Amino acid sequence: MRIGPIVALFSASMLAGCAGAQFQLPQISDADVDRASLTVAGGGASADALPRHIRSAEENRAMVSRIASRLEAAAPGLCAYAEAPRCSFNVVYVADDTVNAQTDGTRIEIFRGLMEYLDTEDEMAAVIGHEMGHEIAQHVEEKKENATIGMIIGAILMTGAQIATGYQDQQALNDSMGLGASIGALSYSKEQEREADLLSAYLLARADYDLEKAGRLFVVLAKLDGKTHASMFDTHPAGPERIASWEKAIAEVEASPDKLPQE
Ligand SMILES: [Zn+2]
Repeated sequence: MRIGPIVALFSASMLAGCAGAQFQLPQISDADVDRASLTVAGGGASADALPRHIRSAEENRAMVSRIASRLEAAAPGLCAYAEAPRCSFNVVYVADDTVNAQTDGTRIEIFRGLMEYLDTEDEMAAVIGHEMGHEIAQHVEEKKENATIGMIIGAILMTGAQIATGYQDQQALNDSMGLGASIGALSYSKEQEREADLLSAYLLARADYDLEKAGRLFVVLAKLDGKTHASMFDTHPAGPERIASWEKAIAEVEASPDKLPQE
């Protein structure tokens, strides 16, 4: 009785991949990615070579709150342009060693494990800006729709398989629905991740952060690849690709007279 869930998994993944971007994403070439790969390899490609920055919980909390306030104050023009339903953000520090940052659409969590690898406030601003970008572009809502569709598809396929085989098992049906939902909820699409980075670049520029310095975040993430979890790092876009994309975004933001991305 494995066919239903497997087909559900496939269908829901396809749907999750359909969530596109509202704005034009930076175009990157293979040469751009190759150059970025060299940056990742510089100073040793492994995470062990990265310096750690140990700060007190008070320092971390104050830093998160300071950066969140500065980004939020700079956000209204971008929020209005992107037709975001709201432009206030609940950003909290989480004293946990998980190397992560995430949002459920209403609450952005920045984990100690990630902050330890970051040096400047510009880098941390790129993390918070990325999560704010997901909220501004309403990616979580799109993800939830995918989860619901995944759950329905899981149920339909499982029921179909049960009818076909004359097999009745409520638990298997529930499992199938749950699997469909969790696959749909699994991750943002590659386009959504890239769009969150793009919106983050515009947000940081509006808040007068240093985009070049902030770009070190993506080198750190590339080196940490495999050690990280969830929304900030869902393996795609691949490390070097993301660095190249950020560099293109910097050039785009600097050339933009109104500091707004192209629709
Ligand atoms: Zn993300």
